[in-house]
Order: sequence, then C-alpha cells, then structure tokens
Amino acid sequence: MTDPVTAPLPGPAVPVCSAKGCREAAVWVLAWNNPKLHTPERRKTWLACEEHREYLSRFLGVRGFLKDVVSLADWEAREAGGDRDGGEEPEGSAADR
Ligand SMILES: [Zn+2]
Repeated sequence: MTDPVTAPLPGPAVPVCSAKGCREAAVWVLAWNNPKLHTPERRKTWLACEEHREYLSRFLGVRGFLKDVVSLADWEAREAGGDRDGGEEPEGSAADR
C-alpha cells in the first residue's frame, strides 16, 4: 500500500466494490437481509462495480438474502437523511476483506 509507483489514487475516497480483491469504484448497491440475523426491515448493503453486480447479486440471491439492487447514486439519494448501519456480514461472505 506504500509502493510509490502504484500509490492509491489521489482525491476523495471513492466507494469501492465489495467483491473480494476488487478495487473498482462501486456503481451499484445491493441491499440484503439475512432473516436469521436481522429483523425484516433491516438492510445490509454491499457495493458492487459493474463487473461484480451480477456475481454478488447471485451470491445473495441464492441464499434468499437479496432485497434490492439500486445504483449508488439512487441509493445515496434514498439514504439522505436516513439511518444506516454497518457490521456483520453473512457467513461465507464473498465480501470478506
Ligand atoms: Zn468489483
């Protein structure tokens, strides 16, 4: 991370894809809920680049966790003034970092 040749991009922090090992800028937000851990109205979020949107959607979808996929811009507009939380990930998470 301190290699001067491949130093991180300057400028404001950009949300990056949640896929393991991916550092692309996030374009999509996947909203999910694990009914075993979360109350029904709870929403966890993963970020996804264009390439990983389908992969992460499927990962959550096969477990029945996926609730919504929206563009990051739409999500941020929706979240403005709303509450948010962070924290736990589903077991075997593809977003393991
Ligand atoms: Zn990605």
